[in-house]
Amino acid sequence: MTEPIIDVLVIGAGGAGLTAAVSAAQAGARVVVVEKTDYLGGPYRINPGSIGTFAVESWMQQTRHLGPSLAEAYRILMEHSRWRADGRVVSALLRNSASTVTWFNELGITFDHVIAYYNGAQPVWHIRDTPHDPVIADVLERHARALGVEFLLNTRALRLITREGVVRGAELEDADGPQTLLARSTVLATGGYQGNPDLIERYTGLRQGHDLFTFEMFTHPQHQGEGLQMAWDAGAGTSPTMLETYIYLPDPFGGPGGTMPELSAFRQAGLLVNDNGLRFVDESVMRNPADAANAVRCQPGSHAYMLLSDRVDRQLREQGLDFQLFGMHHAPGSLAPLAKQVQSAVDSGYRFLFRADTLGELAAQTGMPADQLQATVAEYDGACARGVDEGFFKEGRYLRPLGPDGPYYAAKFCLGSYGSAGGVATDEYGRALDERRRPVPGLYVIGRDAAHVFGDTYPFVFAGLIQGLSHTIGRITGGHAALVVNRGTPDRGGER
Ligand SMILES: Cc1cc2nc3c(=O)[nH]c(=O)nc-3n(C[C@H](O)[C@H](O)[C@H](O)COP(=O)(O)OP(=O)(O)OC[C@H]3O[C@@H](n4cnc5c(N)ncnc54)[C@H](O)[C@@H]3O)c2cc1C
Repeated sequence: MTEPIIDVLVIGAGGAGLTAAVSAAQAGARVVVVEKTDYLGGPYRINPGSIGTFAVESWMQQTRHLGPSLAEAYRILMEHSRWRADGRVVSALLRNSASTVTWFNELGITFDHVIAYYNGAQPVWHIRDTPHDPVIADVLERHARALGVEFLLNTRALRLITREGVVRGAELEDADGPQTLLARSTVLATGGYQGNPDLIERYTGLRQGHDLFTFEMFTHPQHQGEGLQMAWDAGAGTSPTMLETYIYLPDPFGGPGGTMPELSAFRQAGLLVNDNGLRFVDESVMRNPADAANAVRCQPGSHAYMLLSDRVDRQLREQGLDFQLFGMHHAPGSLAPLAKQVQSAVDSGYRFLFRADTLGELAAQTGMPADQLQATVAEYDGACARGVDEGFFKEGRYLRPLGPDGPYYAAKFCLGSYGSAGGVATDEYGRALDERRRPVPGLYVIGRDAAHVFGDTYPFVFAGLIQGLSHTIGRITGGHAALVVNRGTPDRGGER
C-alpha cells in the first residue's frame, strides 16, 4: 500500500511558516502546517508583535523618496557583517522585499508609515501603528485556510524522515501519540532557541539572569531550538548563530525598545560608567540598542550605569530628547520628570534604578568606588564646560554636565535579547545546505532558524529585518517548494 503524501509540510506556524504556507498554497501545493502550541502565528501574533517589516525600494518608499537604493542597502548589510553574510541570500532578500510589501497589500495587510529605528538609521521599517490594523498572522491564517491549507495544532515535530537521501516529511506527536506525515517538501520554521537557556549559553556564552535578562515580551518557551537539531540531524550544515542582544533595563521597566518610553531620558547620550566608575564609550552609541549592548557586554558584569541628575533631566524634557526610542516621538515638554518614576520603582524593590542625594551615596548603592565616580563626574562636567570630550570624542551638543547638586539617578543597563538568529546553512530559496553547501533534497529552513546574515550584531540600522527576512525568504521558499513538487522530482540543487 502506498502511504499518503502531501506536497508541502510546514513545521512552525510563526511569521516565516505562515508566509511560506500561503505562498506555497497560492502556487497550487497541498500544504499542511504543524504547530506545537494551540495557536497560530507564534509570539508574533501578539500585538504589537507585528509592528514592522523591512523592505527596500517598496512603493511606499518610492512615492515618499525614502530609504536606500538596493545597491546601497546591499553594501550596508554586507559591510555590517564584515562580508561574512551570504551575498546570494542578502541579494534575494533585498531584491524581493519590495514585492513582499505589495504581496502583503494584496492580501489586505497595509502599513501606516516607513520609519527609521533611530536618527541616523535607514527608513526601511514598514510599520503598523494604527490600533485597528489587523494582526498580520490573522490575515495570513485567513488566506491560508481559504486556499485549503490544513493546520494541525498541538502537534510537535520530533524528527525529519529521510528516504534515499531526500527529506520526506516528519515524525510528529500530538495528544493521541506519535504519527508520521510524509511530504514532498518540508519547510522548518521553528523560531530559534530564545526559550532555551542551555542552548543560549552553548552558542553565545550568555547566561540568563547573570549577563542576560529575560524580556518577557520576547521570550517564549516554545523556542527550544528543535528545528536546528532536526535540520542538522537530516544532514544540514551549520551557519553562524547569535542572539539579537540589545541594551535593556530588565522587566518590568524594559518596554518594547528595551527601556520604558517614560524612562527615555536614560537612553540618551548622557554619562555612562562601568562598575569601576569609569567612562568607556561615546554615549551617543545609545541610539543603536544593539551597538550599545556590545559596548556594555565588554564591561565587568556585562552591565553599565547611565547617570542623570535633575538638571539633565530638566534639560532633556525642555529641549527634547537626543534620540527618540523605538520610533516613539516625545515632543519637548511631553515627558514627566524622572524623580517620581524612579522613586516609585525604587520603592517597589526594583534593583536596576537608583536615586541618591549625593554621588557618594549613589556609589554606595551601586557598589562603584566613590572617589573614582566623583573624579569621573568632575572630569566629565569639566569636558561639558569646555564643550570638548577629549576622552571619547562625543559631539559637543550631547555634553550636558550633571552639576554639583543632587539628586542623582542611575539606570543599570544590562543585556536583553529579542531572539536567536541563524544556526542552519541555507540559500536564497530557503533550501537547507549541507556542510559542502549543496542543497539537502526536500528540506527548507526559514525564519530565525536560518537568519544567518546579520554577522554578530543585529543591524538596527535596518529595523524590521528579522520579519523582513522571515516574510521575504518565506514567500520565496513557499513558491520554490511548490514548484519542486509540480516538477515531480526532488530538488538536488543543480537547476534553479
Ligand atoms: C512582541 C513582538 C514584537 C516584534 N516586533 C518585530 C518587529 O517590529 N520587526 C521585526 O522584524 N520583528 C519583530 N518581532 C520578531 C518577529 O516577529 C519574529 O521573531 C520573526 O517573525 C521570526 O519568525 P519565525 O517564524 O522564525 O518564528 P516564530 O514566529 O516564533 O514561529 C515559530 C513557531 O514554531 C513553533 N514550533 C517550534 N518548535 C516546533 C516543533 N518542534 N513543532 C511544531 N512547531 C514548533 C513555535 O511554537 C512557533 O509558533 C517581534 C516579535 C514579538 C514577539
